[in-house]
Amino acid sequence: MTSITLRAPAKINLYLAVTGKEENGYHTVETIMQAISLCDTVTVKKTPGESFSLTCSVDALPTDSNNLAWKAAMLYFDTLGIDDRCFSVYIEKHIPIAGGLAGGSTDAAAVLLALNHLHQKTMTEDMLLSCSERLGMDVPFCLLAGMGISTALGLHYGENMQCLPTMPQMPLVIASAGEGVSTPWAYALIDASVQDPPMGYAHIRDTLQAADSTALLASMYNCFEDVILPHRPAAAYCRSRLLSMDARRAMMSGSGPTVFGIFDTLAHAQAACDSLCAEGIRAWTCTTI
Ligand code: ATP
Repeated sequence: MTSITLRAPAKINLYLAVTGKEENGYHTVETIMQAISLCDTVTVKKTPGESFSLTCSVDALPTDSNNLAWKAAMLYFDTLGIDDRCFSVYIEKHIPIAGGLAGGSTDAAAVLLALNHLHQKTMTEDMLLSCSERLGMDVPFCLLAGMGISTALGLHYGENMQCLPTMPQMPLVIASAGEGVSTPWAYALIDASVQDPPMGYAHIRDTLQAADSTALLASMYNCFEDVILPHRPAAAYCRSRLLSMDARRAMMSGSGPTVFGIFDTLAHAQAACDSLCAEGIRAWTCTTI
C-alpha cells in the first residue's frame, strides 16, 4: 500500500466540567466526548525521493511544523526511529477551525493511524495512544474515534480515556458563527468565574448505559457556555435559534464558539440547518456516529 485516505471525525462534548488547576498550570477536566459524522479527510501518500510535505484545502491553516498533523507525523517517525520520511499529507478541511470540535486533533490522530497503516501497523494501540497524549488532550479521543469507538469519558486533562456505550445515533445541526475561541483564553475566563458545582459525569454515563436518550439530553452540560457565550453573541444567537426551531437540546461544544442542536429527525435537522444557512450562518447537518 502506498497511499491511504481516512475520515477524521469531529467531536462534540456531551459533558464538560473543569474540576481544578494543577501547579503546572494545566486544568483537570471531566468530559464525555462523542464523535460525529462531520469530518475532514486526511490522505497520506508515500512520495519516494521527496521530503515530507503537508498541504491543506484551505489557506487559513499552517502547512509547516505548526500544523498538529505535521507534529503527529514527526512524533510517529521519531518514536520508531524512522529516517525515511518521504510522505505527503493532504488535509481536506470541513471542520470549522478553532471551533471546539477538535479539528486539529482529529487530523493529527488520522495521520498517526494512516502512517501506522503504511508501516504495517508497527505501533501497537497502546503506543499510538501514548503518542496521541503527547500531541494534545483531545487527540486520544480522536484516535479512539478513528478506531471505531464513538463515545468515551476523558479524565485528568481529558487524555485518560474510558470507552463508554455508544450514544444512540441522533441527527445534529452544527452552527459556527462569530470569532473563534482560543483555548487559553477560555480557561482564563473559567479561572476568573465562580460556577455552581456540576452534577458530575456519573449520571450521564448511566444514561448512556441505559440508552435513555431523553435522560441523556437532560443531563448534558458544558461549563464553558456561561463564560464564553456572553462574549460570542453570534454563537448565543445560534443556540437560541436552534432551540426556537425545536432542537431537543442545543449546547456549545468544548470551549466554543461552535454550537450544536440535537433533533428528532434528519429532515427536521435539515430544515433548521437550511434556515440558519439562509441567514448567512455556516451550518451543517450531520449525525452522531
Ligand atoms: P479543541 O476542540 O481540540 O480545543 P478546536 O476545534 O477548538 O480544538 P482547532 O480547529 O483544532 O481548534 O484549531 C486550534 C488551533 O490549532 C488553530 O489556531 C489552528 O491554526 C491550529 N491548527 C494546527 N493544525 C491544525 C489543523 N490540522 N486543523 C485545525 N487547526 C489546526
